[in-house]
Amino acid sequence: ARAAAASAPIGPGVLADGTPIKLLANLGKPGEAADAVRLGAEGVGLFRTEFLFLDSADAPTVEEQTASYREVLAAFPGKRVVVRLLDAGADKPLAFLSPGEEENPALGRRGLRALRASESVLRDQLAALAAAADGTEAELWVMAPMVATVEETRFVSDAVHGVGIPVAGVMVEIPSVALIADRVLAHTDFASIGTNDLTQYTLAADRQLGSVAALQDPWHPAVLRLVSEVGAAGAALGKPVGVCGEAAADPLLAVVLAGLGVTSLSMSPTALADVRVSLARYTPDDAAAIARAALAAEEAADAREAARAAADTIT
Ligand code: PEP
Ligand code: MG
Repeated sequence: ARAAAASAPIGPGVLADGTPIKLLANLGKPGEAADAVRLGAEGVGLFRTEFLFLDSADAPTVEEQTASYREVLAAFPGKRVVVRLLDAGADKPLAFLSPGEEENPALGRRGLRALRASESVLRDQLAALAAAADGTEAELWVMAPMVATVEETRFVSDAVHGVGIPVAGVMVEIPSVALIADRVLAHTDFASIGTNDLTQYTLAADRQLGSVAALQDPWHPAVLRLVSEVGAAGAALGKPVGVCGEAAADPLLAVVLAGLGVTSLSMSPTALADVRVSLARYTPDDAAAIARAALAAEEAADAREAARAAADTIT
C-alpha cells in the first residue's frame, strides 16, 4: 500500500467541497523545477529571476536569460508559470542593478524602481521572456516586485503586454497597493501577495534583523486585513489573487488565506504536501469562519490561536 501511495499521482489543491486552491512552487533556479513537479506543484507561482544573477557582475544577455526561462517553462507544459521581473535591492543585491549607497535600501530604489532606472535591463528581460514564451506549452504570467502605486501598475501592464505577453501582474508587498487593491486590480490581470515584504512594511520591522524578528509575523491581524482587502477586490473584479510569501507554507495560515479570498498559494515545494492535506479538511465556509476568527484578534499569537480553536471546532 505504501508503494502504491508513493507512486499515485498527487491531486490538485482543493478545499473539502472541491473548490480549487492552486498549489504552486516558488523557484530560484531552473534546476529546482523537477523536484517541484515530483512534489505535485500545479505550476510555478514565483520564479525569483534575480536568484540567477546574484553573482553576476554584468547584466545577463537576452540569450542567457531566454535559456533559463525556457528551462523552467519546459518543465510545466499546460501549467501556469509566474515569472517575477528582477527584484534587486535590499536583501537581494544585484551588482548590475545597484542604486548606489542608500541609508535605507529596503525603502530605496529597489524592485520595479531599480528596473525603471535601468531601462536596458528591463528591456532585455522582457525580450527574453517574450522569446521564451514563443513556442512554449506553459502559460507564462509575468509580474513585477515592489509595486507601490496605480501608475506603476499601469506601467507594468503596458510593458508586459507590449512585448506580446498577455498576462501581467503586480506583487502586493507594500501596504499602499493592498489598501487600494480595488483600483490597482482594475489595471492589471492578477495580483500575488508577497507576505514576507508585506509584513516587513506593515510592521516596519526589517525582515533580516533578528532583534525585531518577533514582529515579522504574517499572522498579525493588520497583515491579514490587508490580505482580505486584496482578496475581496480580486473576487469583486474577477482577478486571481495568490500568495507567494512564506505564509502560504503554513498549513493553518493557508486555510485562513483561502478564507480571505486567495485562490492560489505558492511555496517552497517541500511544503506542498502538508498544505494540500490541510486545505482539503475545510469547506469555503469553514475557511471563511477560521479567517474571521483570526482577523478579529489583537495580536499575531492570538490570531494563530483563534484560528486553531475555530478549526478544531470543525474537524
Ligand atoms: C515576499 O516578499 O513575500 C516575496 C515572495 O518575495 P521575496 O521573499 O523574494 O522578497
Ligand atoms: Mg518580496
